[in-house]
Amino acid sequence: MFDWIFSLLSHDLGIDLGTANTLVYVKDKGIMIREPSVVARHRKTKKIIAIGREAKHMLGRTPDTIEALRPLKDGVIADFDATAAMLTHYIKLVHEQPRQKGFPSIPKPKVVVGIPSGVTEVERRAAAEAAIMAGAREVYLIEEPMAAAIGAGLPIQESRGSFICDIGGGTTEIAVLSLGGIVVNRSIRTAGDEMDEAIVSFVRLKHALLIGEQTAEEVKMTIGSAYPIDKTERQTVVRGRDIETGLPRSVRLSEAEIREAVSPVVHEIIEAIGETIEETPPELIGDIMEHGIVLAGGGSKLKGIEKLIATELKMPVWITDDPQTAVVRGCGKLLSDPVLLAKVKIAARKIS
Ligand code: ADP
Ligand code: MG
Repeated sequence: MFDWIFSLLSHDLGIDLGTANTLVYVKDKGIMIREPSVVARHRKTKKIIAIGREAKHMLGRTPDTIEALRPLKDGVIADFDATAAMLTHYIKLVHEQPRQKGFPSIPKPKVVVGIPSGVTEVERRAAAEAAIMAGAREVYLIEEPMAAAIGAGLPIQESRGSFICDIGGGTTEIAVLSLGGIVVNRSIRTAGDEMDEAIVSFVRLKHALLIGEQTAEEVKMTIGSAYPIDKTERQTVVRGRDIETGLPRSVRLSEAEIREAVSPVVHEIIEAIGETIEETPPELIGDIMEHGIVLAGGGSKLKGIEKLIATELKMPVWITDDPQTAVVRGCGKLLSDPVLLAKVKIAARKIS
């Protein structure tokens, strides 16, 4: 009886521990948290100063005493303590409700965490450990492409092959799924962050202007594209520091220039998709030719990317609805489907 009441009170969580963004899905409630995966702390004492949006704003602006860092930068847990602090913060935020008099404290939640498929055993253990430290009672780790495919509503349990490509900040995860498992997968550390870096170098080389990565990301989101779609192309003005004079200067950038800047990065992603197709068993190729490649992740919001991939690989390409939340929605769906969860999990850890 108490168990049942507890299960109503305790909100199980689905977490997308992304390199760029962390999202938390609360069972029966939906997505409650959507924040950048950034932590700002004191360099010496390691005391946390800010987490999420506030910390992201500090990136590239901190004095020597403070460091603003992305604990998962390249798709791995680069900084365990910062990752654990971030998880603890978000789990507490959605989980802690005022304790009523006479009621026992609310039990710890069950948590499903999506992690990049390329991570090592050690990194997996670190992710599970971080969730336990953050207050989870049971942790299930699932691979991000699997979570993204479930979130996108692909029929992953059927014998039909499904192809998913999740372009995030630090990693692009590509996988072919069938019968509830991953048949082929590839995880490359080339994604949205590299597009930003490419824009920074382009502006430095072409315009002798130094801009920050955050400015580059804004440029990518406002006028970035992978394929020329509209006749009238967009423009934007950025401010930076002149390399020669060292003084502030602004420059006008065009959509075509940004397309040129990000093109090598986009082509690296397309190449990885092509290689994954080459490794796909022939029986599944037909399904993929018919149903197409499904894109997820924030990087798939780069204008025209689906068009370029379709043209280069001669395959149908779709972007799933709300691509940036596909992984967390997949984790959320698994909270209510223990049978599927048991089938697709790659690791589990419980505290007794
Ligand atoms: P992760 O799963 O690694 O946390 P996300 O799926 O949240 O990453 O995607 C983050 C990436 O998506 C970032 O590189 C961000 O710049 C990029 N992104 C978000 N919106 C857009 C957009 N409209 N156009 C291009 N890139 C975008
Ligand atoms: Mg992701």
